[in-house]
Order: sequence, then C-alpha cells, then structure tokens
Amino acid sequence: MISAQPTERGRSLTIRVLRYNPQEPGSVPRLQDYAVEEAEGMTLYLALSEIRERQDPSLMFDFVCRAGICGSCGMLINGRPGLACRTLTRDLAPEITLAPLPGFELVADLSVNTGKWMRALSERLETWLHGVEDRLDLGAIERPMAPDLAERIYELDRCIDCGCCVAACASAQMRPDFVGAVGLAKIARFRLDPRDTRSDADHFELVGGDDGVFGCMALLGCHDVCPKGLPLQTQIAYLRRRMARVGLAG
Ligand code: SF4
Repeated sequence: MISAQPTERGRSLTIRVLRYNPQEPGSVPRLQDYAVEEAEGMTLYLALSEIRERQDPSLMFDFVCRAGICGSCGMLINGRPGLACRTLTRDLAPEITLAPLPGFELVADLSVNTGKWMRALSERLETWLHGVEDRLDLGAIERPMAPDLAERIYELDRCIDCGCCVAACASAQMRPDFVGAVGLAKIARFRLDPRDTRSDADHFELVGGDDGVFGCMALLGCHDVCPKGLPLQTQIAYLRRRMARVGLAG
C-alpha cells in the first residue's frame, strides 16, 4: 500500500480506488492506494491518467473528451456520482476514494458499461422523433420553431448519458427496470417537441408505471448530482402530474 506524504510543491494526494475485474479469474474486490503529487488545476481524470502512465497500467477507467461532454468518466467520488474530468482535486480532501458507478455492468475497476444501459433505454423509450418518416415534406419537418421552445428542448438535449443520475437514484438501485431521471428527461424532451407525433397516452404507456414516473421516490439525488445541471426535479414533477391526469382520464 502506498502512503502519500506532504511535500513543498503541493499536496500529496492518496487516491484510493476500488479495484475488481470480473473478467479476471481470481480477482477479488479490494481498495488500492496510489500516491499522487497534486499539480495546479489537476482534475481527477489527470490524476488517474498519471497513475496509469507512471504507476499502474492495469488501472481501468473510461474517458473520451476530457471536457464534460462525452459522459464517459462518471464514477463515485467519495461516494457521490460525478465526472472525473470536471472534478478538481483541490476541491477535495487529500484522501480521495473512487469506485465505479453502481447500477451498471462493471467492466473493471472504475469502468462501467453505461453505453449498454443507455442504448437499452433508448430502444425501450424510442427516443427519436416519431412521425417524421410519414412526412416526406422536409419543409414541414424543418419548419421554424419559437426560440423559447427550442431553448426548452435544447436544455434537455444537453444530457450526456453519463449515468450519474441513475447511480444516485434509490429507485434505480432497487429495481433494474426503472428508467431513471435520464429516461424521464428524455420523454419530457419529446413531449415538448411539436414534430413528434406521439400522444400523452403513448408517453403514459412508456413511463406511466412503477418502472417510470410513479416509481420515483422523489429523493432527487439525480437532480443534486447531474453534472449538466438539468432541471430534473421540475421535469419529473411536471411529468408526474401530467401522467396522473392521463391515467385518471384513461
Ligand atoms: S440527466 Fe444529467 S446525470 Fe443523468 S445522464 Fe443526463 S447528464 Fe448525466
């Protein structure tokens, strides 16, 4: 086990990583410590990269963009879901514990298969514009939209499928079929879009049950951790009221 010591140049960090590779015979979950000298403006992503380059090439974690856009580097940072590339080490105590996001298939160490989960969600909720294929008039599809409506749709389109909201959600951890805040936000997004021909009843079919908006326990961990600051609390509350009305009418 490596222990970090203070130095003149800056803080010595201890990065404690929950390591486990389910593909590797004999691998058992364990905590491993790495000592890293903190540098100016260091993010957790940079610290992990340094560990992998200089200390331990076997350490597994995901990244692509390094700019909070791809959503790949989500992990539990001191128990709270967040993006490694958007987390500055200076905002944390010198002992930092990292673990993989719960609720997703573990690849190894800090790497989880959020892509598989998000793809299944997308197919289940059919997160694409419906009705467009029936309209051959492209002019109708691309007709102007009021700027404030476009802005409201864009606000929800900023989701990067990072999975932090799912990892922070008690419902999602208890029932694997729960669509999570990310699923509810996607339905809210398509409800807003006048180009989508699906009705409220169609949306009720998709998220009007206990695996959707009525499975939410309103603890709102999702809202607290979303790195893009999506208005999840407002959207879930609105969708719940709307779906209750559709359910009562049905
Ligand atoms: S809603 Fe926020 S936390 Fe959830 S997947 Fe999208 S960006 Fe990540």
